[in-house]
Amino acid sequence: MLKGLNAIVTGSTSGIGLGIANVLASKGANLVINGFGDAAAIEAERANLEAKYGVKVVYSGADISKPSDVKAMVELCVSSFGSVDILVNNAGIQYTESVENFPAERWDAIIAINLSGIFHAIQAALPHMKAKGFGRIINIASVHGLIGSTHKVAYVAAKHGVVGMSKVVALETAGSGITCNTICPGWVHTPLVQKQIEAKAAEQGISIEKATEDLLIAKQPSKQFATPEQMGELAAFLSSEAAAQMTGIAIPVDGGWTAQ
Ligand code: NAD
Repeated sequence: MLKGLNAIVTGSTSGIGLGIANVLASKGANLVINGFGDAAAIEAERANLEAKYGVKVVYSGADISKPSDVKAMVELCVSSFGSVDILVNNAGIQYTESVENFPAERWDAIIAINLSGIFHAIQAALPHMKAKGFGRIINIASVHGLIGSTHKVAYVAAKHGVVGMSKVVALETAGSGITCNTICPGWVHTPLVQKQIEAKAAEQGISIEKATEDLLIAKQPSKQFATPEQMGELAAFLSSEAAAQMTGIAIPVDGGWTAQ
């Protein structure tokens, strides 16, 4: 389905990004993977993707908070494979605290990675996509790009920004063969969410199981986690010809969270 296409998936050493990388590779896309982690584990992931799916995979250690790194990551994709056809902006971090106590440096870091990094990646990729007359930009925002929750001021601000940015990119590229859309996951069980579950368990003196159940019940009517693979399948669909006229939209995958 995606054979011959070249994709970047930021933050693909863990969680949702890793799931998306696996699905895109399984459908034939060559990949630039990116993210932090143990060098040997990342190399094992890279080699495993190549061996399992018969595609080419290169690793970029770009820090998405640094514009020059982001530009170099995009250029790595072009120099390695000849084009950047699919750009999945997934890398992201979280920090929870009340507005009054929210540390300014956490605000800056979240805005830099979750919002500005996406702008820099899109800006670097667009000339290549325009030259080819094809491109699929897929931004991983969150239900928090559509609604708010307490204690997530920087995250909610950044994710709403991503939804808005995607609309502008969609309008500026409409009719050019390039689309730009946003996926808005609800709870997905990844290390990012596990940290929040552990903090909740410690704070309330309850078990991890109870904290997990409470977390789901509070927000996600299905009481089930969405999965990284489901995000990957949706990203693959948005990359396909069938989705050529879908642009500028934000798609919740949230077990009914935003239907309430
Ligand atoms: P995760 O912590 O499992 O993975 C985050 C990835 O981003 C890792 O590969 C990490 O190395 C990378 N990363 C972090 N900072 C980086 C930086 N400066 N430069 C490059 N890479 C960096 O988290 P996840 O849950 O898989 O989250 C992925 C995305 O999905 C994030 O944007 C997150 O906001 C979003 N999201 C997650 C959920 C959820 O429930 N897990 C829900 C909605 C949205």
